[in-house]
Amino acid sequence: MATKRLQAYQDVLNRTPKHIDYDGKVSDLFGKNVFHAEVMREYLPSDAYKSMMESIQNGTRLDRKMADQVASAMKDWALTKGATHYTHWFQPLTGTTAEKHDAFFKPVGPGRAIERFDGELLVQQEPDASSFPNGGIRNTFEARGYTAWDPSSPAFVIGKTLCIPTIMISYTGESLDYKMPLLKALHAVDKAAVEVCQYFDKNVTKVNATLGWEQEYFLVDQALFNCRPDLMMTGRALFGHAPAKGQQLEDHYFGSIPERVTAFMREFETEAILLGIPVTTRHNEVAPNQFECAPIFEECNLANDHNMLLMDLLEKIARKHDFRVLLHEKPFAGVNGSGKHNNWSLSTDTGVNLLQPGKNPKTNLQFLTFFVNTIKAIHDNDDLLRACIASANNDHRLGANEAPPAIISTFIGSQLSGMLDELEQNVKAGKMTPEEKTELKLNIGKIPQIMLDNTDRNRTSPFAFTGNKFEFRAVGSSANCASAMIVLNTIMAKQLQLFKVSVDARIEKGEAKDEAILKELQILIKESKRIRFEGNGYGDEWVKEAKKRGLNNFKDTPRALKAWGDKKFIQLFDEMGVLTPRELEARQEIEYDSYTMKIQIEARLMGDLVQTHILPAVIEYQNRLLTNIQGIMNALGEKAGKDAAKAQIELVTKISTHLNTMKATCDTMLQARKDANKIEHAEEKSIAYCDKVKVYFDEIRYHADKLELLVDDELWPLPKFREMLFTR
Ligand code: ADP
Ligand code: MG
Repeated sequence: MATKRLQAYQDVLNRTPKHIDYDGKVSDLFGKNVFHAEVMREYLPSDAYKSMMESIQNGTRLDRKMADQVASAMKDWALTKGATHYTHWFQPLTGTTAEKHDAFFKPVGPGRAIERFDGELLVQQEPDASSFPNGGIRNTFEARGYTAWDPSSPAFVIGKTLCIPTIMISYTGESLDYKMPLLKALHAVDKAAVEVCQYFDKNVTKVNATLGWEQEYFLVDQALFNCRPDLMMTGRALFGHAPAKGQQLEDHYFGSIPERVTAFMREFETEAILLGIPVTTRHNEVAPNQFECAPIFEECNLANDHNMLLMDLLEKIARKHDFRVLLHEKPFAGVNGSGKHNNWSLSTDTGVNLLQPGKNPKTNLQFLTFFVNTIKAIHDNDDLLRACIASANNDHRLGANEAPPAIISTFIGSQLSGMLDELEQNVKAGKMTPEEKTELKLNIGKIPQIMLDNTDRNRTSPFAFTGNKFEFRAVGSSANCASAMIVLNTIMAKQLQLFKVSVDARIEKGEAKDEAILKELQILIKESKRIRFEGNGYGDEWVKEAKKRGLNNFKDTPRALKAWGDKKFIQLFDEMGVLTPRELEARQEIEYDSYTMKIQIEARLMGDLVQTHILPAVIEYQNRLLTNIQGIMNALGEKAGKDAAKAQIELVTKISTHLNTMKATCDTMLQARKDANKIEHAEEKSIAYCDKVKVYFDEIRYHADKLELLVDDELWPLPKFREMLFTR
């Protein structure tokens, strides 16, 4: 049994780094496999190039003739890169990416063939979408779904395939993916932000949301991974005693990166660079064998595509280096989990980051406007922000004293807190005198441009302002960022709309513009105060304090997901044109089902591993002990033998106790699962899985992990944490 594990461990010890050489400077490789604007200029006739740029910038539709030209140019370019196939690349609600490959090759007569790709194939495809989650939107007899080209994200070549980023919709036009609502949310925030920008600068015609993600992940050697069915099937170790040494020495964080890992990083980073993903940062994370990679931020839709692409790349390239990458939020109990920080801001086509403090009172008033509106949006929609990061995986992380708590709050630092307090107190009721206004504005002008140094960052906050952007830190490492970005941009759009209406009403009544803005900001500051928290988000005091403030603390996914069904939020998404009530309902159902299925799979696997891996090893060891005890008693007689075999007898008893409790708890869990499976209602079922099934996991694991410490190491079948975490 254990020979597999020992053989795997031997394999690991014999590994050597696999260095890959690339020609040329990294800067020369950047975007080489991307059909970006420069390539288009070269390959497209000028009118087609112009309409393509229009389409990228303003979302205008390409007519069929232009689409044909773009398709043909894309194909010609892709052939020079060695591509033989093309695919519509999309992001179904499974959380991963999907693709269906078709060949360019087309026979046109006996022994004659051409490479074909036209506008029709570029613009729209009809994948058999019946096996993607749809939350009941698509009847099973109507399996058709469409993928439609998203020109704002450039096509790229991976291996021998031209990949075309697309949205996916049902036959009846409902979105079945992450990209379509994201594009709609981005459109909404663009429109709303441009309107507000007009108060400060008439030249602004477009506002882009920007996203800079930081991706954390674990690496495990492939051979060890293959001996862990739980890692293979669920992405996390369902069993395993914490190693004697964990992360307590903190010697891994920013430590030197092991050579095998460096070789892997170099290859995947270069592949990422070729795909136009501007990865720049790499380092070790807090836990052993945990790493992080981050690119320079980009426009939100593109950044999100790049994150999805990178997660894919990580997995592919890791295998080439005999590693497996774990994107799960909590692969190993007892050591830190993985997150994906979403750094977010808004940026104008005049080159201004709207969350960057400015150089003078006017630009700083603009900064404050967007800053305070963000805080108000967070305040009004905290449950939605909690819902968009909820998953069975992330439940292990949120509130576990290593990641932000499940309570949504925002940290802005002492300097800005002071500024908001001042505005709250010093904006006078009634008409303000010019002197009062000047004084206020002078103070506003004093917000320094670079505000927070690293030491002033609060790593315990789920939503922290970090100098020129907000950092949504509660997002899970395996999540599609779009889920968070759809919510964030939608609520921001809505808040900016409300703000504009209120300020305009004041101006209409005769208030000066800056006074109207200041007065509205004052109201927002007051109304959103309870969401601001500067203290330690990991502490118990915060849980109590948050409760006093009336902030929710949804500790598990089924409870957090309820927000999607809240009337207020249904109306919000509908009104902002991001998701219809039907689409939202479908999403909620998909999320409930996904939670249930994940827990169900984990429960099954636990039962399976106990029965087929742990139990046999334990029994074998017990038999050895019993043979030994029997031998001693045969030699010494029963009484003297019992004394002599005291340690062995104690061990047998101890092992039996753990074995019996573990097995009995497994049986109880099995019954609970059977009961839960009878429930049809998606929400109730997920709650049953959470409250009635998952509750046994810890107990079963406790005994299994105790047994791991009692049974002969040579017999234990599952690679141990120390092997998975400390060999590289
Ligand atoms: P850390 O949070 O690890 O201390 P940094 O503050 O350097 O790291 O930046 C984290 C991420 O924030 C980077 O990926 C960076 O690209 C991104 N970022 C910086 N400015 C912006 C912005 N205006 N909009 C979105 N993301 C940004
Ligand atoms: Mg960060």
